[in-house]
Amino acid sequence: MEYLLILDTTKNPNKKNGVHTSVCSNRPTSFYMSLGDWDNEEQAIIHAKRRGYTKAESCAKCC
Ligand SMILES: [Zn+2]
Repeated sequence: MEYLLILDTTKNPNKKNGVHTSVCSNRPTSFYMSLGDWDNEEQAIIHAKRRGYTKAESCAKCC
């Protein structure tokens, strides 16, 4: 599954970078980057944090 990282944190109440699957109905349509393919959201979030997005968090809907 491909995971996406939202780069625009201004719409998140906690100013975090949401992580979504590429098929989530809440997935971002702009200002996002692909995290690549991962088996689960935990791996995707670890990857995002390694890239410097320390406030990455999973989407409540898809992850
Ligand atoms: Zn989602």
